[in-house]
Amino acid sequence: MPAKGDRKTVTHIPPSGISSRKPAALPRVVIIGAGCIGLSLAWRLASAGCTVDVHDQGAAGLGATHAAAGMLAAAVETEPGEQPLLPLTLDSQRRWPAFAAELEAYTGLPVDLRADGTMQVALTRDDVEVLRAGYEFQRGLGLNLKWLSGAQVKEREPWLNPRAAAGVLGADDGQVDNRKLAVALKAAALKAGARLHEHSAVQALSVSGGRADGVVVGGVLRAADVVVLAAGAWSRQLAGLPDAAVPPVRPVKGQMLALRMDAAQPLLRHVVWPPKCYLVPRLDGRLIVGATTEEKGWDDRLTAGGVLALLEAAWRALPGVEELPIEEMWTGFRPGSRDDAPILGPVPDVDGLVMATGHHRNGILLTPGTADLVADHILTGRVDPLLAPFGIGRFQGPRPQNGTDQRGTDQRAIDQRVRA
Ligand SMILES: Cc1cc2nc3c(=O)[nH]c(=O)nc-3n(C[C@H](O)[C@H](O)[C@H](O)COP(=O)(O)OP(=O)(O)OC[C@H]3O[C@@H](n4cnc5c(N)ncnc54)[C@H](O)[C@@H]3O)c2cc1C
Repeated sequence: MPAKGDRKTVTHIPPSGISSRKPAALPRVVIIGAGCIGLSLAWRLASAGCTVDVHDQGAAGLGATHAAAGMLAAAVETEPGEQPLLPLTLDSQRRWPAFAAELEAYTGLPVDLRADGTMQVALTRDDVEVLRAGYEFQRGLGLNLKWLSGAQVKEREPWLNPRAAAGVLGADDGQVDNRKLAVALKAAALKAGARLHEHSAVQALSVSGGRADGVVVGGVLRAADVVVLAAGAWSRQLAGLPDAAVPPVRPVKGQMLALRMDAAQPLLRHVVWPPKCYLVPRLDGRLIVGATTEEKGWDDRLTAGGVLALLEAAWRALPGVEELPIEEMWTGFRPGSRDDAPILGPVPDVDGLVMATGHHRNGILLTPGTADLVADHILTGRVDPLLAPFGIGRFQGPRPQNGTDQRGTDQRAIDQRVRA
């Protein structure tokens, strides 16, 4: 973002993920939304010397960031049509070890990053065919995946259904505890000097002369040089956005639950994707079972069908779950964009407005990359080639024929695919 207006000049040390630049005028930044995206940006920008205010309509970190499973699965989650996203997801996956180490060292708080692989599992011959088709597609993209026999699957996870017929190991994939991540990111942002305003909804964006010049909170204009829209699934609801700056983001509901294993003798040690669910064991013994993918607008109710489907799929893969207590059940809203890819970077014709939204089912995975690349843009004006394909400008053009702008989907249709 080019320097403009009332800015302070500070000598600063750039955080490790951001290209170094000479001391210069630094923008006052307001970030709308304190999820993993808004908080990580706040940390990066405050560390670089910017004045940063983060507003959240509720408590920090309790949106999709709280609801997620925390899988870092750039390889096994890549599906046909998602090839353009791969450079960004792989880049962010590579950033995770250093990002987590820096965050833990800076705050003294753990995020439980585990790069110990994820394993897809087939239970029937039909499953094997589906698994092989996905494996061949993903291998064709150069992803680091290994085909496993049934015996190798059971060697890695002995308590899986003995009928497990084959598997695919994504050795570079892993997980982080997303709830711990939110706590650590909040602490890091505050320690770096960001001001966090919880229960402080942004009512509107203020735009004057084609430039975003602040936000309205409690009826009062809070001036800023740069406004970052990081409001997750709520992003398109913000008042005051010019038409071309309304991100086509919708809530994509996910139901999840957590079972309690014996942490000393867990039923499962690594992330496993059997048919129709995924299983994410935490170090403390929680076993996360996820997740439905439903186009149901803002309906946040758990349903018998959703929970039944997840538990049945988990039980088929890991029969021992039958004995495990249910500890928690919840729903969350993925911020899904029209093409399911994030919306990042500057907004044509609205200077000072920056997008960091639409991360859909990859927002935890994409946190380090988004934080580093979007912060770099705000600090230098540069748009990294990795960011360039994900600008909001890609949605400007003819609208779909059926009058929706939601990938042509009927929002009321339930799509029971299981996704992160
Ligand atoms: C069930 C489920 C499972 C998932 N599993 C994974 C996974 O395994 N791996 C992965 O990478 N991703 C996963 N995701 C996706 C991931 O959680 C999201 O992509 C990510 O959390 C998005 O982060 P965010 O900061 O943009 O949004 P959020 O965490 O939702 O934060 C947005 C914040 O903006 C605030 N806000 C909204 N409007 C306003 C306003 N007007 N003023 C102030 N504040 C406002 C909200 O209160 C909220 O706190 C999953 C998501 C779900 C729901």
